Amino acid sequence: MTDYQSILERTVQHVQPILQHGKVADYIPALAEQQLGQFAIAIQTQTGETYSAGACDAKFTVQSVSKVMTLTLALQRYGDDLWQRVGKEPSGTAFNSLTQLEFENGIPRNPFINAGAIVTCDALYSRLSAPIHTMLESYRLQTGNPKLGVNKVVAQSEYEHRYRNAAMAYLMKSFGNFNNEVEEVLWSYFNFCAIELTVSELAKCFSYLSNGGVCTQSQQQVLPAKQIKQLNSLLFTSGLYDAAGDFGYRVGMPGKSGVSGAIIAVVPGRFTIAVWSPGLDKVGNSVAGIAALEFLAEELGTAIF
Ligand code: GLU
Repeated sequence: MTDYQSILERTVQHVQPILQHGKVADYIPALAEQQLGQFAIAIQTQTGETYSAGACDAKFTVQSVSKVMTLTLALQRYGDDLWQRVGKEPSGTAFNSLTQLEFENGIPRNPFINAGAIVTCDALYSRLSAPIHTMLESYRLQTGNPKLGVNKVVAQSEYEHRYRNAAMAYLMKSFGNFNNEVEEVLWSYFNFCAIELTVSELAKCFSYLSNGGVCTQSQQQVLPAKQIKQLNSLLFTSGLYDAAGDFGYRVGMPGKSGVSGAIIAVVPGRFTIAVWSPGLDKVGNSVAGIAALEFLAEELGTAIF
């Protein structure tokens, strides 16, 4: 039987020399306060066991990893109709780029760049009477933590510095691809990004991606297996900003990163990994997080190819 715990402990040792590398995200003032040098990792197996190592009690905000849950809730409600409003192709540009959106008539390339997530939030907003409450309920159910909440300081800080995200939303509205009040949808989007949890909770929450759509914590079928296959394929091509190709090459798993330094990675049929370390590389991915996943993929022989 695989000794996950000792492999995770070795991973923590492996990344020690690079924990001061990279920079914390400073375009959101509340995130700039994160300290370099922190690292945590967890594995949630398909059979429901949780293993973790490093700063396991540290809490961080999900940031762009939330885009996976936003897409999940939107797919539950819209199915394939959602793809009329957002594409399925890698963007090859930064996560907050405006130029491509202008050239492509307000249809974002994919749901994992900011414009794509914001338009997906707009779609959800049209179907939910209390979007933040519904989102939190999903996280609470899937982590088993009824107290899980939003870091209000981060949400407020993001809202106060929303200019680029607001520009994207208004641009999409000018092309007719936005139905609700921009400011209200942005507030939901920032609250989704500012949901705060531990690394084990993050792994539990996204266990449905490696388990045919069933969350190992809640035992709920979150999405049908067919949609999970599609979602993991999109994560593989577009989940790591414009470094998805490099991540695919080095790690060989579908994944999603966020500017807090969180990353999830999926080995279908085996486990979901969550990792967190706030030092980011130039495109916005956690330096130690990626190194840890590369190490794990080697140790466990888990690249999916
Ligand atoms: N809340 C962040 C933003 O909208 C998320 C970005 C990210 O994690 O990539 O800028």
